[in-house]
Amino acid sequence: MSDLRELYQEVILDHGRKPRNFGPLEDANREGHGHNPLCGDKLDVHVKLHDGVVEDVKFEGAGCAISVASASLMTEALKGKPEAEARALFEKFHALTTGTEEIGLDELEALDKLAVFSGVRDYPLRVKCATLGWHTLNAALDQDEDMVVTE
Ligand code: ZN
Repeated sequence: MSDLRELYQEVILDHGRKPRNFGPLEDANREGHGHNPLCGDKLDVHVKLHDGVVEDVKFEGAGCAISVASASLMTEALKGKPEAEARALFEKFHALTTGTEEIGLDELEALDKLAVFSGVRDYPLRVKCATLGWHTLNAALDQDEDMVVTE
């Protein structure tokens, strides 16, 4: 388990330092704005949704390593996925990080690298960091451009 934990930390540090899909997205047609006042994370998520598919997704903003790494991994996981699958992944990720539901091994595999955030469930404050990008994505898909505040 400690090897796995180290691997998890490496992935989070890597994506926290060098976030993927970071920056503006010119032809985005969905926008979400998220703020986690407890930690100071502020993220915007830009989505290009076309024919029900997330064709492209990027994010911008500033936050702690966990919020940035989570948003970075999220964008990697969502690109090319149908909107319904993106929403389902949000539900799974939420269950994984809050520990509200047991996650089966097959589901954990489907989450792939996102599973690195399973460790945050023991740290309620960190859960808000890890899920901020996802809540913001959900708001973007709902075309809700109000600020998402995690409290
Ligand atoms: Zn944070």
